[in-house]
Parts: sequence; C-alpha cells; structure tokens
Amino acid sequence: MNIHEHQAKAVLAKYGAPVPRGDAAFSVDEAVTAAEKLGGPVWVVKAQIHAGGRGKGGGVKLARSIEEVRAEAQRMLGMTLVTHQTGPHGRVVRRLYIEEGANIAKELYLSLLVDRETSRVAVVASTEGGMDIEEVAHSTPEKIVTFSIDPATGVWPHHGAALAKALNLTGDAAKQARSLLPALYKAFVSEDMSLLEINPLIVTGEGKLVVLDAKVGFDDNALYRHPDIVALRDLTEEDPKEIEASKHELSYIALDGEIGCMVNGAGLAMATMDIIKLYGAEPANFLDVGGGASKEKVTAAFKIITADPKVKGILVNIFGGIMRCDIIAEGVVEAVRETGLKVPLVVRLEGTNVELGKQVIEQSGLNVIAANDLADGAEKIVKAVRSA
Ligand code: GDP
Ligand code: MN
Repeated sequence: MNIHEHQAKAVLAKYGAPVPRGDAAFSVDEAVTAAEKLGGPVWVVKAQIHAGGRGKGGGVKLARSIEEVRAEAQRMLGMTLVTHQTGPHGRVVRRLYIEEGANIAKELYLSLLVDRETSRVAVVASTEGGMDIEEVAHSTPEKIVTFSIDPATGVWPHHGAALAKALNLTGDAAKQARSLLPALYKAFVSEDMSLLEINPLIVTGEGKLVVLDAKVGFDDNALYRHPDIVALRDLTEEDPKEIEASKHELSYIALDGEIGCMVNGAGLAMATMDIIKLYGAEPANFLDVGGGASKEKVTAAFKIITADPKVKGILVNIFGGIMRCDIIAEGVVEAVRETGLKVPLVVRLEGTNVELGKQVIEQSGLNVIAANDLADGAEKIVKAVRSA
C-alpha cells in the first residue's frame, strides 16, 4: 500500500526526521488558509498523487505570495498530472500539500528498501539527488552507494558514518545524517515499510538536513497490525478493479494488454502471461484466484476481467489440485450468465474433477473454446482475438 507525500512526512516526523512544516488542502480556500498559517515568505504548492516526477509535470511550484499560492492551487486542483510514473493517462489531482519553502543548497538521494538477496534492509545513497535515480544508476552507477543493515544488531554508528561519507557530508551536516539514519530505520521496521525513498534529501542554505520529498510503501501482509496506516489509504489513487479484487481476496494486478487471464496459483499465472506473450499478444492482467477458491470468488474474478474494456479475449487456465475443476467451471458459467460474454473465451482445465468440469461447460451451452494444454490455450485465444 502506498500513501501520499504529506502522510509519509507525518509518519517520518513521528520518528524524529526533519520535515518542512505544511498542511494538506482539498480546495483552493484550504490551500490559502494553510499558506496564511505557515506565514511565508515562500511556499511550495505540491500536487499529491501516488507517483513521482511531479516537478517536471508542473505538480510542484514555488509561490512567493498568497495570491500565487491561490493561482497555483486553482491550476493544480482537478488537473490531470502526467509524469513518467503515471503512464500516459496521468492522475487527477484531488489534494495538495502546502509547504513552507526551503532554501536548497544541495539535493541528495536516500532510500531504504527490503533487499531480498541479503534478507536485510538496504540503504541506498547518492549525492545526485533531485533527479531520476534510475538515470543516475544507468549513467553514473559509481555515484550510488549501497549497504545493508543486519536486523539482529540494527543501526550502528559506522552505518551513520558510511551514510555521511556516501552523501559527501562533513561537520554538522554529517552529524545530522548520522542521527537521521537510525530514525529512518526505526520508522521503516516499526511501520513495516517496503520502501522509503527520500528524493531529494536536502542541505539547506542554513546547513540543515531536511526531508524534502518522501515516498513510502508498506508491506500489505503486515497492514493488519497498523490500523493507523490503513486509515491513510486513498482509494481514489487505486485501480477500482484492484479494489474490487482485494475485497474478494484475489491477487489481481491490472496490466495494459488485451488478453484477460484467470489462473490458479501465482507460478501458473506468471507462466500463462509469458506464454501469451510468446504467441504475440499481451496479458490484460495478472490474476491468481488462489488454491481454494469458491464459486463466488471465481464469479467475482470473472466479472472483474470482463469489466475491463481493454479485454478482447479471456483465457481461463486452471490446474485443479486442491481446486476442483467443476467449481471453476460453475463459477465461469455463473459469471457469464450474469454479465454476458462479449469476447472469445478459451478454457483449459486439468486435474481434479476435470471431466465433471468439462461437462459443466458443455452443458451450459456457452460458446467456449476448449484447450488441451497451456500452449494450445494461449495459441487459441490469441488466434480468436486476432480473427474477431
Ligand atoms: P517529485 O518531482 O514528484 O519528485 O517532487 P519533489 O518533491 O521531489 O519536488 C521536485 C523538485 O522541486 C525538487 O527536487 C526541488 O528541486 C524542487 N522543490 C521542492 N520543494 C522545494 C522548496 O521548498 N524550495 C525549492 N527551492 N525547491 C523545491
Ligand atoms: Mn522527488
């Protein structure tokens, strides 16, 4: 789960990280009130969407008077902000963050993330802040320093020193970096974050280290123990299909292709997506209905797929182990009865009760194309979509 920049900063501030003062605003009036409260003389008006790159897209603007705050708020609220992270359709700006302006002397990069290779929290730091870190990694990888922290012993003073060195800080700024790291690590671990990215972390003209931007993601599997974090969830930032899927505990991720997939098991779902690509088409989604899916769950899954206007064909690929093929078949038939079927449907069933499952589909009178194996299924659905 992701949260907005202003929420991330509030979470980090709780752990002692230095963040600028600011207030969220949902209307132009609220933006003006927030600016008046902050007092100026410089403010920053920041669009709050769950994507970075806002600065380049016109979603971060300095204002030198209340009137400029008003004008920027007016311009940003309701606009569709397109950045390199939003995709071409962009995101509608529904809230703003009004912050006191900072006097930037240096822009640095700092992030914490879970490194699966070492099973530790990794710290990534660079002197090249404020820009696209992927670009830095590509063109000047030597400017990115990475080290990890042993969960058994936590942050040691030498980690802080390594960070200060990586950021090329000395004196008081280095001291601030040394105390920032344990604060961020504590926030990361205590709140079960999966990513904490500060780009930029700045040194101000006054020599203060300040978290100027913050992007935080949380481990969904640990959200049950953080009701206060769950309360920060902004459903308008999420795909409605994914919200619906999460209600039914389906693992669903919307993609850009044309073939809707319904599969049981994450591995089989990945293999199905691969083979669709092999036959020259693109999957419209990743969908794992899980091992013990009920008929209701399958019906819900099928409805989510058919509700996607990009879907030009559906491939159901089920290997019935714990899952019974007849349950899947009944779910599919039920869903098609309720929603209708406007695109070709290929079903490949294998495993427990496969004959019963095939019977259910045959007797339903639905226009279903049967497939014998994974390759056959992929080939048939791609062909059906191409000729439709
Ligand atoms: P992003 O573009 O979505 O990553 O948004 P950021 O919060 O990182 O802002 C983009 C850029 O705007 C930063 O890298 C800064 O250069 C600039 N910026 C943001 N806040 C301030 C501020 O308070 N003062 C000044 N001078 N520049 C700022
Ligand atoms: Mn940024």
